[in-house]
Amino acid sequence: MADKIKMELPIVEMDGDEMTRVIWKKIKDILLEPYINLKTEYYDLGLEKRNETEDQITIDAANAIKKYGVGVKCATITPNAQRVKEYNLKKMWKSPNGTIRAILDGTVFRAPIIVNCVKPLVKTWEKPITIARHAYGDIYKDVEFRVQGKGTAELVFTSENGEVSKQVIQDFIGSGVILGMHNIDKSIESFARACFNYALNVKQDLWFSTKDTISKIYDHTFKDIFQDIFENEYKEKFKDAGIEYFYTLIDDAVARVIKSKGGMIWACKNYDGDVMSDMISTAFGSLGMMTSVLVSPDGNFEYEAAHGTVQRHYYKHLKGEETSTNSVATIFAWTGALRKRGEIDKINELINFADKLDKAIINTIEEGTMTKDLAGIADLDNVNAVNTEEFLFEIKKRLDILLKQA
Ligand code: NAP
Ligand code: MG
Repeated sequence: MADKIKMELPIVEMDGDEMTRVIWKKIKDILLEPYINLKTEYYDLGLEKRNETEDQITIDAANAIKKYGVGVKCATITPNAQRVKEYNLKKMWKSPNGTIRAILDGTVFRAPIIVNCVKPLVKTWEKPITIARHAYGDIYKDVEFRVQGKGTAELVFTSENGEVSKQVIQDFIGSGVILGMHNIDKSIESFARACFNYALNVKQDLWFSTKDTISKIYDHTFKDIFQDIFENEYKEKFKDAGIEYFYTLIDDAVARVIKSKGGMIWACKNYDGDVMSDMISTAFGSLGMMTSVLVSPDGNFEYEAAHGTVQRHYYKHLKGEETSTNSVATIFAWTGALRKRGEIDKINELINFADKLDKAIINTIEEGTMTKDLAGIADLDNVNAVNTEEFLFEIKKRLDILLKQA
């Protein structure tokens, strides 16, 4: 057996919960550690440890990503009332993803992993479509009010030196609803830079859409900030990379995306990104095939699968029943992090390994061996549906062949 690949700087490794925690360990044992002297700084973000450390571990992990630039995260439970009981929590801890995002100031990019035997529902799509979702503000941080009868609703802003600006929203003659929402330039600017940097990184065109014709100040501000930053900081770089930035109305973008071949990044405001990423992932196939990366404007990368902890499968696993959980997105999170580490530290073997592991996964599925979620939708005559662990060994077989070819 050849020498194991050596690493220089560590990857920040964030372990998680339930079925994905089970898979996490198996991926390391079967597909990573036999080939790499894996150097990670380990943070256990499993719910028990978060509870024990009063969530300090999540903050420490986020700061470690700032230090080392690259992290990989397992899916974690976001506690709700039922989880507080189940795990006997001191508190309903916040979503770790939200905490990490707030510290890194990032944008989330989600892209489907394409295999030729799972045909997208949209026939023209040949390449993946990546959604870049702004993760701050708008209706996710709004104030809402139920109007019960006649009266006047006003939008009032009081500046720090006491100047008041007032506009009438509506003179209500009966009951209705009002909402107030906001965004801030600094957040929109970092969203824009994260999108431009990501597009350069993957060498794909960047589309951005809002409804600026109707929302002449709010959405128009997003459009203007993107345009200014593009003109001043990215125009030349895009030209050199042979890619384009293009702005269009959200309704026009929807029509164009459906008719496109794919292969672009589609930047969306918070709500649009929430809705469109579910549309894109469903149209491409399965949640188990959707990767996610958080990119911060100062160049930190955090990779994860887009799905959750696959709780239902975990309860089966605990009862000793066989599971067939798709590990593809979680392995892609690891290869994304290893590749990025290799690029930053200039370790070609690491990049090469990540590429081959990705290829081994695609080969496994395209040759007909896959987990049940894919077996149900694959366009193949002979499908070999395997369990969680068998799937990893099937990938390993192909990985060994690919590594020998080098
Ligand atoms: P989920 O874990 O994504 O699972 C929803 C369903 O989708 C599963 O029951 C399963 O369907 C299918 N599925 C998802 N991933 C799959 C995979 N890899 N292989 C096969 N099937 C897969 O979402 P959830 O059940 O709503 O949430 C469970 C927990 O995850 C929650 O505690 C939530 O807080 C957490 N969560 C974490 C993150 C994150 O850390 N980024 C994201 C979302 C949710 P079948 O059961 O029909 O097979
Ligand atoms: Mg959603």
